[in-house]
Amino acid sequence: MQSRNCDKTKDNVRVRFAPSPTGYLHIGGARTAIYNWLFARKHKGVLILRIEDTDFERSTTDSIQGIIDGLNWLGIDWDEGPYFQSEYVEEHKEVARRLVETGHAYKCFCTREELDVKRKAALAAKKPVQYDRTCRRLTPEAVAAKEALGLPYVIRFKVPEQQGSVYFDDAVYGPIEKQYHDIEDFVIMRSDGSPLYLLSNAVDDIRDRITHVIRGQDGLANTPRQILIYEALGARCPVFAHMPLTLDLKKRKISKRTHGELVSVQFYRDHGFLPWALVNYLVLLGWHTSDDREIFSREELIDAFSLEGINRANSIFNYTPGDPKFFTDPKALSINSHFLRTLPIEEIAESVKGEFITAGIWDPAYDGEKRRWFLSTLDLIRSRFHTLKDFADLGRAYFSEDFPVDPKACKKNLLKHKELKEWLPQLADRLEGLRLWTPESTEKAVRSFAEELDAKPGIIINAIRTVVTGQLAGPGIFDVLLAIGKDRVVKRLRGVPELFREARGRI
Ligand code: GLU
Repeated sequence: MQSRNCDKTKDNVRVRFAPSPTGYLHIGGARTAIYNWLFARKHKGVLILRIEDTDFERSTTDSIQGIIDGLNWLGIDWDEGPYFQSEYVEEHKEVARRLVETGHAYKCFCTREELDVKRKAALAAKKPVQYDRTCRRLTPEAVAAKEALGLPYVIRFKVPEQQGSVYFDDAVYGPIEKQYHDIEDFVIMRSDGSPLYLLSNAVDDIRDRITHVIRGQDGLANTPRQILIYEALGARCPVFAHMPLTLDLKKRKISKRTHGELVSVQFYRDHGFLPWALVNYLVLLGWHTSDDREIFSREELIDAFSLEGINRANSIFNYTPGDPKFFTDPKALSINSHFLRTLPIEEIAESVKGEFITAGIWDPAYDGEKRRWFLSTLDLIRSRFHTLKDFADLGRAYFSEDFPVDPKACKKNLLKHKELKEWLPQLADRLEGLRLWTPESTEKAVRSFAEELDAKPGIIINAIRTVVTGQLAGPGIFDVLLAIGKDRVVKRLRGVPELFREARGRI
C-alpha cells in the first residue's frame, strides 16, 4: 500500500460547488453548496461556483439560472465564478493528449464489437470484466499504422500494473484503498475527441487549485481514478470529503426523478420558508455537533462547522409524500417556525411583504404610517406559525375584511350555542361604548357581560375569537382585540347573525 501525499493543510482553502445544470437546484445540491460555503467561510478561504455543463444534451440555461437564483436566495455567496466547464474542453483534450505523450495513457483502437466479445468471454469465465489492455501492448509502429488508416480510437489511462493500491484518507469515510488490479484502464477521451467527465472534473480542480473536494458520496467511485490522474499530472491531490446520501422514509435516494418538485429549493421558497431556516435544516441532513445542537445563527454555524462532524450514515429526509398534515419533514417546519418566532420582526416583515403582495392584501401604509401596527401585529401572531404562508392564510383576518371562517371553529365555537346569535351583537354595542380600547378594558367588559348573562366566559371568548379571526386558536384574545381595533371588532360581532344564516345555508 502506497501512502499518498494528500494535502492536509487548512491554509488558503479553495473549495468549489460544481453542479451539473440538468434541472432545478435540489436540496441535495444545496446541501453540498452549503457545506462548501461553510468550510470556505470558516477557513477564510475561497468558494468557486463551477457549472459542469459538458453534458450538452441535458444542460440548460434555465437550470443554470435556477441554480444561481437558488443560491442567491439561500444567501450562499461565492468568491469566484461562475466558471463553465464547457469553456475548458480544449484544455481537457490537451491534457488527454499530454498524458499519452508522457506515457500515462494510450490510444485504444478496439471496436465496440471486439470489446463486447471480450466482455462476454470474461463473464462466461467468471473473470472480472475489465479491458484486457490489448492496445497497451501495441508498438509505436503499430499505433502509427492504425492511425494512418484513420481508425478511430479512444484514449485510456494506464493504471499501474504492479502490485499496489490507491490509498486516500477521506475526511468523512476514513482510509480508503483500491487495488490497482481492481481498476480498469479507463477511458479519458472518447473516439469523437470529447473528454470524459472524470478527466474534466479532475483537470478543473487542478486548474482551480482546489484544496478540498467536498461532494456527494456518489463521487467516491471516481476518486481513486481521479487520484491517478492527479499523480500522472504531477499535481498535489486535494483532501476528499464525501457526504452521505439523503434517503426518504422508504430508503429511496432523494432525487428529482422520484420526488419531483418536493425536493427543489424553489418548493421551499414557494411554501413560505425563510432561507436561513432551510440552510439550517439542510445542514443537519448529514452533519452534527457533539452536543447535537439544532438551531444556529449564521455566525454560530460557520464557527461550529467542520468536516469531522459530517455523518457517515445516510441521512433521512423524514417525509412520506402524501402526508396530509405536513408537506415536508416536520423538523424542517419546526426549524422554520423557530426562526419565524425569533428573528427580528423587521426581517420577518420583509419576507411577509412578498407573501402579502401575492395574496393581494398588501397595504403600502405598512411601509409608512401603519408600520408600527403592522410590526406589532406580526409579532403578536407569529408564535404559532410554521411558514410565511400562515401570515397571509391563518392571519388574514388581521389584514383584510375578506377572510374565511374555519368551518370547524364555526361549528364548535358558534353554532353549538344558539344564544350567541343574540349575545354577540349585544356585546358589540357594549364594546362600542368603551372609551378606552385596551386589553384590560375589553377583558373587563367581556367578563362582566358574561356574568350578567350567567354564561361561561370561555364560551363567549371562544366565539369572539372565531368571529373576529376566523380561527379556532390564536394569541390571547384581548391582545387580538387590541390589534384588530374597535371598529372592526364591533362590525364583525354585529355580523354574527349573518354567519349563522350562511352556516344554515350550507347545512
Ligand atoms: N457535477 C457533479 C454533480 O453535480 C459534481 C461532482 C463533483 O463535485 O466532483 O454531481
